[in-house]
Amino acid sequence: MPHDDFPAGSVWLVGAGPGDPDLLTRKAARLIVAADIVFYDALVGPGILDLIDPHAERISVGKRSGRHSRDQRTIDALIVAAALKGKRVVRLKGGDPAIFGRTAEEVTACRAAGISVRICPGITAASAAVASAGTSLTLRGVARRLTLVTAHAQAGATLDLDWQGLAANDSTLAIYMGRAAAATVARQLVAAGRSPDTPVLVVVNASLPNERIIRGRLSSLAFLVEAISAQDPAMLIVGEAVEPDPSFACAPSSRTCDAMIAS
Ligand code: SAH
Repeated sequence: MPHDDFPAGSVWLVGAGPGDPDLLTRKAARLIVAADIVFYDALVGPGILDLIDPHAERISVGKRSGRHSRDQRTIDALIVAAALKGKRVVRLKGGDPAIFGRTAEEVTACRAAGISVRICPGITAASAAVASAGTSLTLRGVARRLTLVTAHAQAGATLDLDWQGLAANDSTLAIYMGRAAAATVARQLVAAGRSPDTPVLVVVNASLPNERIIRGRLSSLAFLVEAISAQDPAMLIVGEAVEPDPSFACAPSSRTCDAMIAS
């Protein structure tokens, strides 16, 4: 059935999911195939970019830790300019566009220019990470809250989070962009009252062939992330919900199961 939700001169912000092309939604795949131009982030993998029409333009606007990237205003302007030329524009983002994805800025820029803009959700990295580890983000009666938090601080700034709020025992923390600040996160959470024995799960390259799953305790978090390269995306999950089942050996989907480290 033909779709009429992607007219010329309009924009879709599309969630590409965590990396595995099979974790794209059908709608995301359809929009990518139909696009005249695709602006994509560094975390969108090759298997997904392969869906782009060979005649369409593909433009990397990637942001990656420590590397130069186009600033947000430039990206907004590029999207708007392409739509004003009458192109079907896909802005492809890792995970879900609504989670640490600068979606608000891009939607605002499009609306200000009178351009139709819509959002196609995607599977966020936190969901992919716990799925790979065979566990859950919530746990009935134990982990009643889920907090999605970024531990990325502006260059030169200290990480200023509500540590008391984050230290609540009944909450699972899904920490995005947390590798560099892992030692600070662990120290501050423990100082705010979270037990050093709280289980942690670190998933690097979740859903991709080079995925790694690392388990430990809050007290060992800094050590657990030490060997992770700045180029590899990593999710840190903290909370009782990710306590490994005693029978846990190695999650079936993980290619390597590096460590089960007790503090
Ligand atoms: N919108 C994205 C998050 C963008 S912020 C989403 O919903 O997933 C980028 C951060 O997401 C990375 O630094 C990392 O912490 C996390 N991330 C994204 N993809 C990941 C993956 N495949 N594996 C582990 N973490 C990932």
